[in-house]
Amino acid sequence: MADAYTRFIRSAPGGMLAKQLGLPRPSRLLRRDDRPEPVLGPVVVLGASAGADAVAHRLLEDGADVRRRVEDLRSIGSVIVVADELSAPAELGPLLLPLAGAMRSLAPGARLVTISRPATGEEPARDAARGGVEGFLRSVAHEMRGGATANGILLADGVGVDAPGAVGALRFFLSARSAFITGQLLTVSTEAGSTTENASLPLAGRTALVTGAARGIGAAIARTLAADGARLVVLDVPGAGTELARLANELRAIPLQLDVTSADAGRRVVEFLREKGLTLDVLVLNAGITRDKLFANMTPDRWDPVLAVNITSQIALTEALLEAQGEGGGVLGAQPRIVSLASTSGIAGNRGQTNYAASKAGVMAFVDALSGRLAPLGGTANAVAPGFIETEMTAKIPPLTREVARRVNSLQQGGLPVDVAEAIAFLASDEAGGVQGETLRVCGQNMVGK
Ligand code: NAD
Repeated sequence: MADAYTRFIRSAPGGMLAKQLGLPRPSRLLRRDDRPEPVLGPVVVLGASAGADAVAHRLLEDGADVRRRVEDLRSIGSVIVVADELSAPAELGPLLLPLAGAMRSLAPGARLVTISRPATGEEPARDAARGGVEGFLRSVAHEMRGGATANGILLADGVGVDAPGAVGALRFFLSARSAFITGQLLTVSTEAGSTTENASLPLAGRTALVTGAARGIGAAIARTLAADGARLVVLDVPGAGTELARLANELRAIPLQLDVTSADAGRRVVEFLREKGLTLDVLVLNAGITRDKLFANMTPDRWDPVLAVNITSQIALTEALLEAQGEGGGVLGAQPRIVSLASTSGIAGNRGQTNYAASKAGVMAFVDALSGRLAPLGGTANAVAPGFIETEMTAKIPPLTREVARRVNSLQQGGLPVDVAEAIAFLASDEAGGVQGETLRVCGQNMVGK
């Protein structure tokens, strides 16, 4: 449901007023149910490398309407720029500039995806070209209109365009599931993972546990993972028992009432899974709280609970799961996926949120380190960093601050809980096996960051 300003702007008088005054006019974003086709066509694949040919070939095999030139197309659904073999910045112009004249032909909700490689610090001219793609991508994303997005995939050297992570990330960014993600670059660091055969139920046969699932983003994550075929355990505090039971009924999920900060939380989760005979494939560490105050007025009763819920509980729970694994009688599946909730506040900082930002920056560093522990098990750990998402948490922000916060991004609106859930479902999938220790922002290219 759109916010009040957006509803007004979409009315005839509101639209006229916004045009005259130059006010933000957010476009309606098309999500999974609005745009079921996986790729909006026609899709143009730019680039002359063998990688570009391979990407075009795969899309053709998937049934997409694939072109290799932008000229003469009146409407373009998707553009993929394959820049996997750059050696100097002079190559950027010939590769990118043909697209300039076609920008106005991009359809509403179009997708632009670059596929390039991260700088390695080894070859100055090559690194400059590689960095150039990132600068281009982040800027062009600010210029997209009509709910269109632009994102990049960074393939580590040695990872091919046909690697599961490369294919999976491309599918995700081209789909409507990434509606609120723009201006972001996601690194695929290994060829691990496998390409999903069952595209409509990519998590079939998997068991997922979501903490803080009773409402907001957590409930949306549970619903999305269930829609992707996973069996769910939904966890929340006893005080949210009624909402949790309702969600569990809706999803045929197993409810678990537990405070994640309790000293024995990890042990109780392990015992619960053993009792139910469940093997955990996906763990989503979503439970989180805010206790905002300027640092000058910060007190332990505001600092401690935020750190305890948002990060310390995550460390304790994953330690308990890994310990159980080490002792035999483990409860983790063959390729466990752990996804945690960070925040753009943890990236850029935010006035009044020293406690929250400390916890969320901690989350990002934590998943990076944890991914190293999980890799030998075939597992991954990653995070998503939501920007402004319309939930009960953000409904508590004072009205004027809230209105500014939801507009200061390239899509000029707040995201929905389902947008965060879609990114988590992707990171939980087989296809994302090569994505390790990353934080993916789901923020509409919030104008904060480093
Ligand atoms: P919310 O307050 O609507 O829901 C949080 C849920 O976590 C609630 O159901 C709550 O009962 C549960 N929870 C809190 N403490 C718990 C504990 N000790 N044990 C078990 N469950 C507990 O919040 P939300 O907006 O849905 O946020 C979900 C996550 O996303 C949080 O980690 C939050 O920091 C993060 N996030 C949200 C936004 C946003 O804009 N809403 C932005 C960035 C990050």
